[in-house]
Amino acid sequence: MSRLVHQQIPVTAFSQNCSIVVCPATGKVALIDPGGDADKISDVLRQQSLQVDKILLTHGHLDHVGAAKILADRWQVPLIGPHTDDRFLFDSLPQQSAMFGFPPCAVFYPDHWLREGESVELGALTFSVLHCPGHTPGHIVFYEAEQNILFSGDVIFKGGVGRTDFPRGNAEQLIDAIKHKLLPLGDEVTFIPGHGPRSTLGHERLTNPFLRD
Ligand SMILES: [Zn+2]
Ligand SMILES: [Zn+2]
Repeated sequence: MSRLVHQQIPVTAFSQNCSIVVCPATGKVALIDPGGDADKISDVLRQQSLQVDKILLTHGHLDHVGAAKILADRWQVPLIGPHTDDRFLFDSLPQQSAMFGFPPCAVFYPDHWLREGESVELGALTFSVLHCPGHTPGHIVFYEAEQNILFSGDVIFKGGVGRTDFPRGNAEQLIDAIKHKLLPLGDEVTFIPGHGPRSTLGHERLTNPFLRD
């Protein structure tokens, strides 16, 4: 299969990477973590004549979900993920907006929660769902094995890992998930994090200071 097309649109004051993913075989399109700036995202898609089929969410922090409901309603597409353990973050979206100084965001919930071992199809692509708690309890990541690509949200970054000082964060769980679920996917896997540049799991295994024993 030819390479999957993916591009990042930086959204919100936190430069969150909203990803556009296109199945190379069918042209089907998914959006991952539209955290804000709904009109900016819409414009990019319109300029490229892309029509979104589904919206995937890694976790319930506002900078990852802030524009999700607006866009799902606008395009009549389903909102999929994260794990239901992040429900409390969706309950508190208005408080999250106030806390981060973002535009107000009303409470909403995804159409489908996801669990470890489930997968999401996009044309010929299959995204495996891995539950990686620690940054938030319901954080999931999306892994496409044939393309060797991982959308890792705020679990792992180039040279860093997700913060665990937010409500219900857990540093031990986070490192455990990275070491026992992500690194075994293989050194060649490229990951697109929620913030900052992409990297590979192999590069992080060797150099990431948070993963040293
Ligand atoms: Zn987060
Ligand atoms: Zn984030």
